[in-house]
Amino acid sequence: LGEDVTIKKRIMAPGPTEVPPTVLGAAGQPILHHRTPQFRAIFAQVCEKIKLVFLTKQPVITLAAGGTGGMEAVIINLSDPGEKVLVVSGGVFGERWAKIAEALGRVPVKVNVEWGQAVKPAEIEAALTANPDAVLVCGTLSETSTGVEHPIEAMAKIVAGSKAAFAVDAISGLGACRLKMDEWGVDAVVAGTQKGLMMPPGLALVALSEKGWAQARTKKGPKFYWNLETALKSLTAEKLPDTPYTPNVSLIMQLAESLKLIEAEGMEAIWKRHELLSKATRAGVNALGLKLYAPDSPSVAVTSVWAPEGLEGTAIVKKMRDEWGISIVGGQGKVKTAIFRIGHLGYADRADVLMTLAALEVVLEELKVTVPRGQGVKAAQDVFLGK
Ligand code: PMP
Repeated sequence: LGEDVTIKKRIMAPGPTEVPPTVLGAAGQPILHHRTPQFRAIFAQVCEKIKLVFLTKQPVITLAAGGTGGMEAVIINLSDPGEKVLVVSGGVFGERWAKIAEALGRVPVKVNVEWGQAVKPAEIEAALTANPDAVLVCGTLSETSTGVEHPIEAMAKIVAGSKAAFAVDAISGLGACRLKMDEWGVDAVVAGTQKGLMMPPGLALVALSEKGWAQARTKKGPKFYWNLETALKSLTAEKLPDTPYTPNVSLIMQLAESLKLIEAEGMEAIWKRHELLSKATRAGVNALGLKLYAPDSPSVAVTSVWAPEGLEGTAIVKKMRDEWGISIVGGQGKVKTAIFRIGHLGYADRADVLMTLAALEVVLEELKVTVPRGQGVKAAQDVFLGK
C-alpha cells in the first residue's frame, strides 16, 4: 500500500468513511488495561456522550463487533426462536434483518418494498394487523444499498400501538440522518462506528428503550456473547462502567475523540450539514443529466445514481478510484452494476462534494458519456451559495 502522492486517497463511500486526524491519532496511544480506573474513566465519558448522538437517556451498549453483530444482538435479545419478526425489506440491509432472523430460527415476515422506494407507514400497519403475534418490527434508517431514508418517526408511531418492539438499523444513518430515539419511541437502535461516527470499523453500539429492556428480560432463548443484559449489568454495577469481556480499547479511545468533535458541532448542525451535502450532490448529478435511483426519499448519507445508458456503474467507480483516488462505490445485490453510489457522511464537507463532482465529470467524458462538463459542479456551488 505504498502512498502515491500523485493520486491522494479519498473516501466518498457510504462507509467506511474518512477518519479525522485527531481520531486517527487516538489509535496510536498505548493500550490501557480495561479494568483500570484510567480506562474506565474514558469509557464513562464515552458512555455518557454517545447518548447525545442517539438522543436517548438509556444506556448504550458497546459491542466489539461490526454493525451486523449489533443487529444479531437485537434479534437474539428481543425475540425468541419460533417467534415472528416483521422486516422491512427494500434493499440488502433490510434483507439482512430477515437473513439473521431466519438463521436464528425466528420466523421473518417481510414487508417487501420496491428498491429505491421508502416503506409507507400504512404498509407496516397492515402487516401488524395481519401478524398480531409479531414481537419485533425491524427497519432501516438509511438503506445504504439503495440510498433510501425510511420514515422512522412515522413507523415508530405505528409500532408503538402494537405489542411489538421497533428496532432500527441506524448503522449508516446515525450521525447523518435525523433520528430521535426517545422522542420518536424507537425501542432498539443499532449503530456502527465506520459511518457517521467518523471512526474505523469495529464497534457496534446498541441502545434499547424501557419497552425494549422489559421485552429482553422475557426472552429466554440461548445467548452468551450477545446477551445485552449481561452487558448492562457490567455497565451499571459499579460507579464506573465496565464491560463483561475485553472491550476494543483503542476504538473506545478513538470514540472518545470523535464524540468531542460531534459534541462541538452539535446534532442539529450535523444533520443540517448532511442535508446540505446531499442536496448539493443530487443537484450536481441532476445537472449532469444523470438519473437519481431514489429521488423520492433520498438518504442524506448517500446518493445513489443510475449508471448512464450502456455503461456499468463499476466502470465509473474503477476510474474514480484508480485515476482520481476517490473511492465511490457501485451498487449491491440486484443493482450491483446498474447504479453507483456517492457517500457524503461523517467527516465530509462541501469541498469533498465539489471535488467528487468535478472528477466525475471528467471520468464520464472519458467514458464517452456526453455531459455538460462544469454544470454538475456549478449546480452544487449554487446550492452552497443558497441559490
Ligand atoms: N446496515 C447498514 C444500513 C449498513 O450500511 C451496513 C454496512 N454497510 C450494515 C448494516 C452492516 O454493517 P457491518 O458491515 O459493519 O456489519
